[in-house]
Amino acid sequence: KNQTLLALQERRESNARSYPRRLPLAIERAEGVYVTDMDGKSYIDCLAGAGTLALGHNHPVVREAIEDVLHSYLPLHTLDLTTPVKEAFVDELFDSLPQAFAKKAKIQFCGPTGGDAIEAALKLVKTATGNRAILSFQGGYHGSTHGTLSISGTIGPKKKIHALVPDTHFLPYPYEYRCPFGIGKEGHQISSTYIENLLDDPESGIVSPAAIIVEVVQGEGGSIPAPVEWLKELRRITKERKIPLIIDEVQTGIGRTGKMFAFEHAGIEPDVLVLSKAVGGSLPLSVMLYDRSLDHWEPGAHIGTFRGNQMAMATGRATLRYVKENKLPNHVEKIGSYLKKQLHSLQREMSSIGDIRGRGLMLGIEIINPTKHSNQLGSFPAYPELASLIQQECFKRGVILEVGGRFSTVIRLLPPLIITKEQIDDVLQRFNEAIKSAET
Ligand code: PMP
Repeated sequence: KNQTLLALQERRESNARSYPRRLPLAIERAEGVYVTDMDGKSYIDCLAGAGTLALGHNHPVVREAIEDVLHSYLPLHTLDLTTPVKEAFVDELFDSLPQAFAKKAKIQFCGPTGGDAIEAALKLVKTATGNRAILSFQGGYHGSTHGTLSISGTIGPKKKIHALVPDTHFLPYPYEYRCPFGIGKEGHQISSTYIENLLDDPESGIVSPAAIIVEVVQGEGGSIPAPVEWLKELRRITKERKIPLIIDEVQTGIGRTGKMFAFEHAGIEPDVLVLSKAVGGSLPLSVMLYDRSLDHWEPGAHIGTFRGNQMAMATGRATLRYVKENKLPNHVEKIGSYLKKQLHSLQREMSSIGDIRGRGLMLGIEIINPTKHSNQLGSFPAYPELASLIQQECFKRGVILEVGGRFSTVIRLLPPLIITKEQIDDVLQRFNEAIKSAET
């Protein structure tokens, strides 16, 4: 049965499909961390809608929220008009934010993808500052629209798209494993001093930035956490120069890294915060929150039809509430550290594991070719073929995970936040077998 649907998909869907080609399954049912294909085979889902499904599939509180909206006869779609469901969602979200930020924040519903909310953020800061230049980071990912692709590091999809948005500049991200500035405190200091230099030296070509946009943990770039001291420095540098700092928490937000928001690890605050994925509690929703001092735009400055999805607001609210009431960030912190520790012991046995990193349940395993020494950014060469083979071996053993990163060599783990220790052990055991089989 799987094959029948996969053949239909192959014939009818666009060539732009990427990861479904590597994960050939047609899903019939899903519950918690498990999905079942059309032939009844069960998989542990460590991709979870690219980090969207914080509570896993079909969580009872999410289903209940959907049923409540249905029974209430509220309109399912309201453009920007308000409803009790919408105001309850906003209350819940503001209550989840660090209170100092919540007090000065305003919210813009966007829509409903992460990419659209990033577009809104770029327009907001350009309007507020009157400046044009947007500074982002090497290896960063902010979406697939024309504007967001322009500020993303991802080279592949940009190759054939000419005339991207001008005046975008890429700063070095503290990718420690392949960092030209070196590792540890000293490396971070050199890296942030270098950024400060670029901003202050007119010869860098960077004039009057409208904003710097950053992911606290790069997701698509390969699950790379920025060190806390570096983030603090970035905040100091931007504050001193009055450059708005946009923090893209589309992937990291709502508990994924072991705090409600990843920027909380560094004790910093954004000027603009972008959320999507988990904030919609399984349904499409995106929002931008920003310091009200930036609110210089005109009515109608960011519009779009689908910004009033009541179901997504209801499931988003239910998810936020569940995450808080059940202290899921603490669980994520604990279970994420356990998973990382186990992976580190596996690394001692497997020479193809170059690096294990990440925060909470946003982990990356960088696969290298240990037999070839290279000077490629000072480390062992990337080994995308082996990473892909490990992904296939995991898939055979019933584990869905994605391969990403700048060199397509990072195995990424983004399971639902509700995953238990027993389920993690199960993933580890299957991963262990898969990597051993792939290496031989
Ligand atoms: N920012 C980040 C950090 C992301 O991870 C993503 C999606 N992977 C986006 C933006 C874009 O979101 P969307 O795919 O919903 O447009």
